[in-house]
Amino acid sequence: AKSTRGNQYRLYRPNMDEANDKWLLLETKLHQALKKDILELHYQPKIDLKTDKVVGMEALLRWYDPELGQMPPDRFIPFAEECGLINDIGVWVLKKACAQARAWNQTYNLNLRVAVNISPIHISTFGFVKMVRGVIAETKIDPHTLEIEITEMSMLDYTEDLINTIEQLRSLGITISLDDFGTGYSSLNYLKKFPVDVLKIDRAFVRDIVPEKSGIAMISAMISLAHALNLQVVAEGVEEEAELKVLREHGCEFVQGYYFSKPLSVEEFTNSILKNV
Ligand code: C2E
Ligand code: CA
Ligand code: CA
Ligand code: CA
Repeated sequence: AKSTRGNQYRLYRPNMDEANDKWLLLETKLHQALKKDILELHYQPKIDLKTDKVVGMEALLRWYDPELGQMPPDRFIPFAEECGLINDIGVWVLKKACAQARAWNQTYNLNLRVAVNISPIHISTFGFVKMVRGVIAETKIDPHTLEIEITEMSMLDYTEDLINTIEQLRSLGITISLDDFGTGYSSLNYLKKFPVDVLKIDRAFVRDIVPEKSGIAMISAMISLAHALNLQVVAEGVEEEAELKVLREHGCEFVQGYYFSKPLSVEEFTNSILKNV
């Protein structure tokens, strides 16, 4: 048995080394990017369907590395969660987004709400609320203009502690929204217990609105469910007029998507959105 294992070891070792090297390189680069302020936030406008006005924006992380190119967050966020960088990234994103929102609201005399994505791992960390309070004090953001988006995945780690954390954040005036609704593993029972303010319907459902009749039924049911639970609804990934029409008809409150705007750099957002609000 020993010699077999020895062989396997030799067989797999080169690959493992390569994987290890890649992992280390990525970790080092991400760490550097964070330290040197190379990470960037882009902002995607959220539109209120009652007024057709921009009422807020979601902060989305961007990482460009000269060697690796543009790294999609869908890939490096899970990596950051695994290698333990996610909490530092979360703090960085929160500070940056709050400072930006406060500056925009001051300069343009607005009341836009900024939404920040927080990893379930981070929000479950001891001291999270204290950290958020610190950032609010430091950036002077009005907590009513801050929203935290957490994915449904975190429902798996549904605990009294997490509920308690969310309650504390809400009592500060922060809005809590449940991201990617419908794609995770949570049961409706969890939803009932989970003290959130907003449901974000995943793009997968929005995309199905047009070609399939059942798509409309799904959206309609999700919106009804949200309203029955006293939650507001954001639909994400709206790309087409026809999707928008159905969402409007069914009383969806807010939308985001390429139909209105892709996520924009600070400069782009300032020039093309704020000057027209
Ligand atoms: P998400 O939170 O569900 O964000 C929505 C994603 O959909 C964004 O991708 C956005 O650019 C994209 N999107 C928006 N409108 C449309 C549309 O009309 N059509 C299509 N096809 N896509 C649209 P992005 O920026 O690549 O982010 C991917 C995911 O990475 C996010 O999904 C979120 O889970 C994660 N992420 C991004 N930034 C952060 C961050 O600062 N912290 C954490 N923890 N996660 C982040
Ligand atoms: Ca999100
Ligand atoms: Ca989402
Ligand atoms: Ca997503």
